[in-house]
Amino acid sequence: MPFERRLTLDTSAAEYVIDVANVVREPALGGERAADLNRLAGVLDALAGFARDPSVQVYAITDRSLLTDGRLTPAERQDLNRWYADGRLEVLPRADDRILELADALGLRVVSADNFLDFHRAYPWIPGNRDRFLRPVLLPDGRIGVRPRIMPVPEEWQVSRKEEEGLLLQAGVVRRWEHSAAHRAALGREWRCPEPGCPLFGSADRPGTALPRRRKEQVLCPTHGVPLADAGPRRPRAQVKVVMDGTVRGRFMVTEGEPVTVGRAPAGGGVALGAWIDDTAVDSVSRSHVVLSYDGRTLSVLDERSANGTRVRRRLPGNDTVEPLPHGVVRALRRGESVVLHERLELLPSGRQFVFEEDPTDGTVGPQDGGAHAEPTMMRLPLHDID
Ligand SMILES: [Zn+2]
Repeated sequence: MPFERRLTLDTSAAEYVIDVANVVREPALGGERAADLNRLAGVLDALAGFARDPSVQVYAITDRSLLTDGRLTPAERQDLNRWYADGRLEVLPRADDRILELADALGLRVVSADNFLDFHRAYPWIPGNRDRFLRPVLLPDGRIGVRPRIMPVPEEWQVSRKEEEGLLLQAGVVRRWEHSAAHRAALGREWRCPEPGCPLFGSADRPGTALPRRRKEQVLCPTHGVPLADAGPRRPRAQVKVVMDGTVRGRFMVTEGEPVTVGRAPAGGGVALGAWIDDTAVDSVSRSHVVLSYDGRTLSVLDERSANGTRVRRRLPGNDTVEPLPHGVVRALRRGESVVLHERLELLPSGRQFVFEEDPTDGTVGPQDGGAHAEPTMMRLPLHDID
């Protein structure tokens, strides 16, 4: 299947979360059959177009029942089981509230037609939200598309909304603070599932990158529901996308404590951009153009001596700013900022890595149009959200 490369359980890489069963069993998305895996393919294609990212990374989860759903063809069931075994698909007894746990903990955008009305109290950022949810739709030409959606505000909330908003804001901030600190702690460790052959948290040679479940003080395997064993610290990573003319051409990771040289063809190893960009851009990019480093919270950029220099772009709704980066200066990238190597070529940190980062200026930096540089908008966190 060509589209399975878009499925990932890597919490450092995923930018969207999708409930696979929900899509596959949705007749409104076209097709004759009650359950049809082509609907998933269609939604992933639509998402790739929406994000202008052919390899858009999607955290896919499903109810266990889908793996044995007799309305799917045997080949489709085989695909699902293979993705599960390969650690590309998270399988759990019930998926409905898991999608929101993932969105909440990782700052992922949710692809779903569901209004999640039962969860508005638990996740006060949902009602009225404008930038975290996308709805899959059937387009007039028979293809599937995705549309940004505004989440409804339940009627009972509107009655005494002003009063409620204050209370909910308070509740939301407090809750989120505790919750995210716990998730952050969980993501900073390696976990092992006692269940033999667990595809999510199985063996040392395949490190579990999925998000453990949290139930009260326990850290659980989402699939098996049993407590996970702590196998030591894990170094955090940040994902950076290579964007050429507004389209994502490639991506790479920067691990805490391992600076990465990025350029046309870095001599001592690093990320060679040559394969991803065209000649015009290649000519103006130095062999070693910048060094990116990550301290576990913030990504920084350094341009020692590139021939044509580097700029930092900051996107604010309706107001982009670009400033030159002086040679030799280590510049921490704030949320919404990207590294401009050439007017057509940018290094764009994935938004969701910064979910735990406090932004002093604005908690709602994000695109208004869902366009080329659409990044999930992060919620602002208290300053003290550090373990
Ligand atoms: Zn397990």
